[in-house]
Amino acid sequence: MAKLKILTEGDMALRLKSRPVTNINQRILTLLDDMVETMRLADGVGLAAPQVGVLRRVVVIECEPGKVLELINPVITSREGEQHELEGCLSVPGRQGYTHRPMKVTVEAQDRTGELRTYEGEGLLARAFCHEIDHLDGILYIDHAEMVQEEK
Ligand code: ZN
Repeated sequence: MAKLKILTEGDMALRLKSRPVTNINQRILTLLDDMVETMRLADGVGLAAPQVGVLRRVVVIECEPGKVLELINPVITSREGEQHELEGCLSVPGRQGYTHRPMKVTVEAQDRTGELRTYEGEGLLARAFCHEIDHLDGILYIDHAEMVQEEK
C-alpha cells in the first residue's frame, strides 16, 4: 500500500466529473487499498478518487473504525429526512461549515468483486455518502455550506 497525495481546493481535478469504472482490474484494487491507507493516515472518514487525482467513480468510507466501505460506481437511490451538521473535507484543510444533508440515504454500489450491493446510512454515514459521491461530480461541500470558517 502507498500513501497518495491529497489534492486541495483550487486543483482542477476536484472540479471534473469522474468516469464510471467499467473493469475492476488490479489498478482499481490497488487504488482502493491506497485510498484506505491515505484516508486513515489523514484521519478522515471518507475519500473519493478525484481527491487523489484519479477521475474514476471510486469512494472509500470508514465512519466506524475497522468498518471500511469500498464503493465502486456508487449511486444514491433514496433520501429521507434532513440534517444540518458541521462538515469538513480533506481537500479543504483547516475549515469547516454547516451543510444540509438527508438524514438517511440508500446507496447502491459495486464492491471490489463487482457485486452490486445496497448500503443504508444514517447521520454521519449518510453525510459521508453524500459528501463523497458529490466529489465524483466535481462538487465540494463548500459550494453549498453555510458559515464556512476556520476549524476550531
Ligand atoms: Zn471531501
